[in-house]
Amino acid sequence: MSAKIMRLAAVLLVLGSFPLLAAESLEAYDVVRLADGVYGVVWKTRPVSPEPNILFAINDDDVLVVDSGLLPSSARTVIREIRKLTPKPVRYLVNTHWHDDHVNANFVYRKEWPGVQIISHPNTRIDAHARAFGGKEESLAKNRAGLEKYEGILRAGKKSDNTPLDGPTRARVEEVVAFFRRYVEEIPSVEEVLPNITVDQSLVLHCGSRVIEVHYLGRGNTRGDVVVWLPNEKILVTGDLVVSPTPFGFGSYYAEWIGTLDKLMQFDATTLFLAHGDVQHDFGYVRQEQGLLRALVDRVGAEVAKGSSLDDVKKAVTLDDWKKTLAGNDPMIQLGFDQFFVAPAVERAYDQAKGDQQ
Ligand SMILES: [Zn+2]
Repeated sequence: MSAKIMRLAAVLLVLGSFPLLAAESLEAYDVVRLADGVYGVVWKTRPVSPEPNILFAINDDDVLVVDSGLLPSSARTVIREIRKLTPKPVRYLVNTHWHDDHVNANFVYRKEWPGVQIISHPNTRIDAHARAFGGKEESLAKNRAGLEKYEGILRAGKKSDNTPLDGPTRARVEEVVAFFRRYVEEIPSVEEVLPNITVDQSLVLHCGSRVIEVHYLGRGNTRGDVVVWLPNEKILVTGDLVVSPTPFGFGSYYAEWIGTLDKLMQFDATTLFLAHGDVQHDFGYVRQEQGLLRALVDRVGAEVAKGSSLDDVKKAVTLDDWKKTLAGNDPMIQLGFDQFFVAPAVERAYDQAKGDQQ
């Protein structure tokens, strides 16, 4: 979502005011080998990358990829990495949910491999059309404004509060501007390509000797999140149901998400591949995310039961204890927690507690 990128820009800028050992470029990534023939492209930007991590599995005759990416150029980077490892065609592409960073680059894969089958939950197909592709012009306008704002900061040599840009901050702003530029240059070329196979509950692909399952576990981050499960390798791809170090809370179904994570923890997984964040090897972080969701739902619910207004709820439910748990003393992660989770989630959880289900 464009709003997400705008907030990301704000979060990245905080970096500038703290000494940094090594700022990773927004394009830096690792290709991580997860199992025989199974790889992940993991973006290095922390605390959160605008591009989702991409898993690909090289099977006997073909390749399966999970999520296509936000910018076409990033998808082409991933495709180059796939090509370095195999000449086999990408036959399956799974969209874990509708957010633009997971579906925008579908067309890049379709162009490269016209026979690619794109798989998602039915709601993801509907929402990708209406909201990701349907919201493209609006996102572009917002990001053009963002670009102008940060270019202005560079030109003026000072931040909006008039403090001068020091070296590291300038470097960060330049990086943010470079990302905005790529966004506004590339997004007009995005073509709408929707999933052509929808799965309500479960789908099992037998790709030669590789077994790949796609499961819908219930509403959570969106109303159409699917996970991808490789039972032989015990690898679970979580999409944005699990995002570390702090989750995204945009347009989510918080109360149901708690139960969805219960189901997610029933997989006998030894590798959790997150769409944003580091690869995990146990459910410790998932349990924390679930605890945070429970705290959100319980506390907002208690306030609504008392008849509190939205403003009062926002003042009362700051989730500072969870901020401490998940973000520690890292100001950038704290800001991410406030902007990516608390701000959107408290307001929507309030509506949901009052019975408004969108
Ligand atoms: Zn995402």
